[in-house]
Amino acid sequence: MSYEPLALKYRPRRFADLVGQETVATTLRNAVKSGRLANAFLFCGSRGTGKTSTARIFAKALQCPNSSEGEPCAECDICKAIASGDDIDVIEIDGASNRGIDEIRQIRDNAGYAPARARFKLYIIDEVHMLTIQAFNALLKTLEEPPSHVKFLFATTEASAVPETITSRCQRFDFMRIPAPAIVARLQYICTQENLSAEPAALQMLAAKCEGGLRDALSLLEQSVAYGGESITADGVARALGLSGREICAAIVQPLIAGDAGGLLHGLDRALERGRDAEELLDDLVEILRAAMVASATEADQAVGAQAELATALLQAWPLQRLMLAMRLLLNARRESRLAGMARIQLELALLKVLHSSALLSLDEMRSLLGNAPPSGAPAGAVPARTFERRVPPAPIAPPAPPRAQIPAPAPVAAPTPVAAPAAMVQAGALTLEALQAGWPKFLSLLGDQKKRLAGHLEGSEVVSLQQGTLLIRLRSDFARKNLEEKAQREVLGESFVNVFGTVLALRFETGAAQQSNNATQQAPDRDPGAMKLISAFDGTVVHKSENGPQAKE
Ligand SMILES: [Zn+2]
Repeated sequence: MSYEPLALKYRPRRFADLVGQETVATTLRNAVKSGRLANAFLFCGSRGTGKTSTARIFAKALQCPNSSEGEPCAECDICKAIASGDDIDVIEIDGASNRGIDEIRQIRDNAGYAPARARFKLYIIDEVHMLTIQAFNALLKTLEEPPSHVKFLFATTEASAVPETITSRCQRFDFMRIPAPAIVARLQYICTQENLSAEPAALQMLAAKCEGGLRDALSLLEQSVAYGGESITADGVARALGLSGREICAAIVQPLIAGDAGGLLHGLDRALERGRDAEELLDDLVEILRAAMVASATEADQAVGAQAELATALLQAWPLQRLMLAMRLLLNARRESRLAGMARIQLELALLKVLHSSALLSLDEMRSLLGNAPPSGAPAGAVPARTFERRVPPAPIAPPAPPRAQIPAPAPVAAPTPVAAPAAMVQAGALTLEALQAGWPKFLSLLGDQKKRLAGHLEGSEVVSLQQGTLLIRLRSDFARKNLEEKAQREVLGESFVNVFGTVLALRFETGAAQQSNNATQQAPDRDPGAMKLISAFDGTVVHKSENGPQAKE
């Protein structure tokens, strides 16, 4: 028996089979029924949401001689030929591989001929945004005055990349990501058809992982079957999907809850040593946070999913807003690491920010991270004070918990962590020279855990002065100074500085003895006190944007 992939075998054949796209299906069916049809249709949405399947079903509905109530019969020769992609009147073009003007010219030249056996000549162009500009221009000519027997069905994952001259001539349909419960139901149906037994938690994990794309969910299901055979368990799925072991995530999440920076970085090291890659870890943590967030938003007592235990621990420790903030920080890190690489550093920075999120970030930063900007003119501090209250008091620093251990029960407030101490001073609005000097050794040791090269150049450095938003740092050697004044190094340092001290300062360096440094300080140019302006003037690069200057008070 030849094996047919599930995604093909269970490809929807009629509108009624489409999962999660009821609005689109209804609108298209009505269009077929009424006969009021646009010349071109544009299907937009992320991968696996059913755009191409819908285009074929729509094509069938238009061509099938037995269409009823806008539904194709899915049985006749025409329907079958369209389903397999070789109908003579329905021409499918993959925009990604046929990007050029020649293919489109061919369309233009052939469009004039009448269809061979059905009502319309239909052109389905997948990934239409990939066409070249010349191809779009050629296409436009046909789109402007199409013969009445020609219709275009375009599909794209990037609607914004399709020229407006094209989109404005199309009836547009947006395909939503398919909601997880709909995907779970579909997976359950397919498992029943295929005589597979599946734990509900396992299917939930698959649905969570595929991010609203049914096709991905089906290939993940197949992967799980290949891995674990015909009974699909949550554990098997976790392994098949390469979700990290419970211990690995626990070693990160537990110190995160406990507010233990040392334990957190140690746990991260262990995870990376065991061969987890930083991007995978980011994905796992996002998954756990998401489970906690969903449970929190729906006021559930327990989280569900691959790492339900850890997600539930987070749920009990943090209010929804803090979970959302943490999620935003991790998603930012994921985006940054995809754009700029350095996944490990992005992950470390994000986790440290999450750890100190309530202490480090200004209210404005929290607001903007949560996408919750106050109306203009609203007074600072408009976020209700209870927003960042914990449900339970923060735990003191705990030694890294052994693997598989339960999350330690939260204990009453104890002394803040050393890093939190300078942060707390910053939050109070007074980043003084003294505070910086007191926090500097801790900053350096924290830096040394993450960025050894940078920390090496800063070894033995001292904070000399803080004036007009410029921090003067004395270094031990000209070599170190030369290195730190390179743009790349300075940016990394600037970002680390912001992460620990929570504010933006221009950084200047000097070498030599203390007396000289004082002179240098006095010679520091008297510039506009705005920290951002200083930063720009200093190196022409904005490292980090903050609405609060160093002296800003909350
Ligand atoms: Zn038919």
